[in-house]
Amino acid sequence: MERVIIIGSGPAGLTAAIYAARANLSPLVFAGGMYGGQLMLTTEVENYPGFPQGIMGPDLMIAFREQAERFGARIENVDVTEVDFSSKPLIVRTSDDEFHAKSVIVATGASARWLNIPGEEKLRGRGVSTCATCDGAFFKNKHIVVIGGGDSAMEEALFLTRFGSKVTVIHRRDSLRASKIMADRALAHEKIEFIWNTKVERVLGDETMSGLELQNVNDGSDYTFEADAMFIAIGHDPNTGFFKGQLDLDTNGYITSPDGVSTNVEGVFVAGDVYDIRYKQAITAAGLGCRAAMDAEKYLEALEFAVIEVVAR
Ligand code: NAP
Repeated sequence: MERVIIIGSGPAGLTAAIYAARANLSPLVFAGGMYGGQLMLTTEVENYPGFPQGIMGPDLMIAFREQAERFGARIENVDVTEVDFSSKPLIVRTSDDEFHAKSVIVATGASARWLNIPGEEKLRGRGVSTCATCDGAFFKNKHIVVIGGGDSAMEEALFLTRFGSKVTVIHRRDSLRASKIMADRALAHEKIEFIWNTKVERVLGDETMSGLELQNVNDGSDYTFEADAMFIAIGHDPNTGFFKGQLDLDTNGYITSPDGVSTNVEGVFVAGDVYDIRYKQAITAAGLGCRAAMDAEKYLEALEFAVIEVVAR
């Protein structure tokens, strides 16, 4: 019987692991096949406190992991496939094993959204991507398009200027959602152009992407736009597939919590982007991971105290 199982290994999961490990709970962390969460797919993190010169996302997550392991967290690069929270002990399953736990911290984060338009799936990895750090280098001196108007889109566009001959940001509205500092940088960049009020209707190309079919949302006109690659940066969806029917989710699929820590199941706590639709920052996820571990510790203490009381009577 595990005292704490942590599902997820982004800033929330690994901060929960650091706190739970330092509380001597020897947490078992299911980190997923690709540990580290979204920061593994990002470049420089400039707003994580403590790094005045910035730090690369993957380096930050390696440091999180080392810190958790130093205090005894057991981190498995394994995906959880199923949970059963209908009774105690709580059950967590992987493809070839079943684990029982007194408490579980869910920190499974969120995944990049796709446009779900014709041609997108066929050309994934052949011009269409959601990860500039993974695939940007394949498009040296090519014309690259970025979809979206948020911080992710600006970050991707700025990063892709290292490779592309030109980067065109296509946004469905006429103003950006991105923070001012990121927007200003992208708007001022000589290699970045913007196309406003425009939707992508279709990705064109056979073996590799050759262009996009675009639609101007103001007048409804369609036209073909030549480009070699498209990076989609339109936000994320929470990774809650296997919690359906187990935990209360909101209409967007995020786990609901009255206090940002507990869930509708006693002993199951939530942390990070899988709950937080609003802030979605590494630092806020880390803070939520800390809270979840501290509450899990209190819960276990109360549980164990109750057992001692019963035995004493
Ligand atoms: P976001 O802020 O939700 O922005 C998503 C963008 O994609 C919006 O501009 C949205 O358009 C557009 N969009 C959504 N669905 C679309 C669709 N189906 N077709 C076309 N466009 C679509 O997401 P994000 O940029 O990933 O950022 C998420 C959070 O992470 C934010 O809090 C952000 O500040 C943070 N973040 C911070 C940094 C940084 O500080 N360095 C970097 C990355 C992310 P509308 O504007 O019309 O809704």
